[in-house]
Amino acid sequence: MDIVKGNMGWIEVIVGPMFSGKSEELIRRLKRAEIARQRVQIFKPFIDQRYANTEIVSHSGLGIRSDNVRTAAEVLQKVEPRTEVIGIDEAQFLGEDIVDACTKLADSGKRVIVAGLDTDFMGRPFEPMPRLLSLAEEITKLLAICVRCGNPAVHTQRLIASEDLIVVGAGGMYEARCRRCFDPQLAHEKMEEEKRAPGKLRAV
Ligand code: ADP
Ligand code: ZN
Repeated sequence: MDIVKGNMGWIEVIVGPMFSGKSEELIRRLKRAEIARQRVQIFKPFIDQRYANTEIVSHSGLGIRSDNVRTAAEVLQKVEPRTEVIGIDEAQFLGEDIVDACTKLADSGKRVIVAGLDTDFMGRPFEPMPRLLSLAEEITKLLAICVRCGNPAVHTQRLIASEDLIVVGAGGMYEARCRRCFDPQLAHEKMEEEKRAPGKLRAV
């Protein structure tokens, strides 16, 4: 955002697959706001408990304190009137209501920075991120590095057998893959295998 006059609020969205640096970028922006002595509040859904409960931590170990919330309504409850910048990580886990919550906060003059996965383990749009993208003033799409071939990775490959949309985890459960190496059927096939021969399941 370049020219912003008065107390205009807005929405910035950071998307990409796992390992693309969304948390890092969110933390960078929030730390810079703090350096500028702005009042910052940071939220993440309770569901994501990797590394720390009261902190957002990137895969590279960068961290910033955060508040756990279970719903978008809880974000609205916890935001203090004087807060100027609001950061939300893993927004795809907060449901549809996060769209209205972000709109409300931006309408009331706050800078809202939201990070989340824009596609799921099947490569499908992961609501509510697509809706947030359409409402945002500024969008950043990050790519990871494909662990198979080194090309830019747009996808999150699930390596374990589950048809659930949400399986939280990082180490060994997911990896970044480019569009060539991404295989959305893999998790399903592994699951079928597990049904036929329980206990023989291995990450692929
Ligand atoms: P995200 O929030 O998008 O999952 P993070 O900000 O937590 O990403 O982590 C990004 C960091 O992860 C990178 O700076 C790098 O150190 C590390 N990393 C591990 N695997 C990969 C990969 N396949 N591609 C890019 N970065 C990776
Ligand atoms: Zn690849």
